[in-house]
Amino acid sequence: MDQLTTEIYKWMNSIDNNYLIPGSDLPAFGKPIIGCAMADDGLFSFLKKDIGPKFYWTPEQIFKTAFPETQASNIELSVIAWILPQTGHTRKAHSSETRLPSREWSCARHYGEKINDNLRRFVVTYFSKQGIKACAPVLLPEWSRKISNKYGFASRWSERHTAYVCGLGTFGLSDGLITPVGKAVRVGSVVVKKRFPPTSRQYTTHNEWCLFYAKKKCRACIQRCPAGAISEAGHDKIKCKDYIRKITGPYVERAQLGFHVNSCGLCQTKVPCESRNPTKCIERQASS
Ligand code: SF4
Ligand code: SF4
Repeated sequence: MDQLTTEIYKWMNSIDNNYLIPGSDLPAFGKPIIGCAMADDGLFSFLKKDIGPKFYWTPEQIFKTAFPETQASNIELSVIAWILPQTGHTRKAHSSETRLPSREWSCARHYGEKINDNLRRFVVTYFSKQGIKACAPVLLPEWSRKISNKYGFASRWSERHTAYVCGLGTFGLSDGLITPVGKAVRVGSVVVKKRFPPTSRQYTTHNEWCLFYAKKKCRACIQRCPAGAISEAGHDKIKCKDYIRKITGPYVERAQLGFHVNSCGLCQTKVPCESRNPTKCIERQASS
């Protein structure tokens, strides 16, 4: 993993790969963090059962979809996930907005996700050059969005849930993944036919890095959401999607980039979990 990590850092350090806007000298993302899980980790089958037994993929199913001619069982596969943190520049610009996304955030959402796609391809190619088969689940033509009986809008492979299994963070009240570098992030993953040591998960429950679930404190994301889509009951995906489809997407097209982008993420900035695990700060305060 160390060599892959070095290669990812090198790739992300180049402005030719990691730009906020094509031609800009501002990067889209800061230094990534990377985690790994074994494909036979019980959490993957739990996610399938919990999110959608009929459609949610296990790593083994993904591998068989990508490489139907290759035999591979769960015990030969690993899943590698990464977190791409929004830069201080983007977070600052976004923090000063209250109802509509900043231009920086919209660029990071649009161009940044293309960079994330390119990073997925880069990692797959990195392995294939060594004769190791790998694939990026969300780039497979079979990947699609679905409706989960339990959670509503879902997909066949969730990058955030994968990062959770790979030891990279837990979920917050707003559904975002709170990572060691906070919630203002993008996430990616690949499945590879090689065993890597798994990253240890520094948590036991799926939401323990959120101040609301851990301490009954905070609720800052409820205040930040202009759509009223976050409450103590959690994240209302329908209200959130509606606000983006009807308000912010058309705004980005009209006033920012000239095309529709699903940009919002106000709940990811100007909150205690924006760029850190906020429960660690409380632990530090209590012990000092
Ligand atoms: S803003 Fe507060 S309540 Fe909302 S996800 Fe972050 S820590 Fe949890
Ligand atoms: S993305 Fe926007 S609309 Fe959706 S929950 Fe966050 S702040 Fe609210």
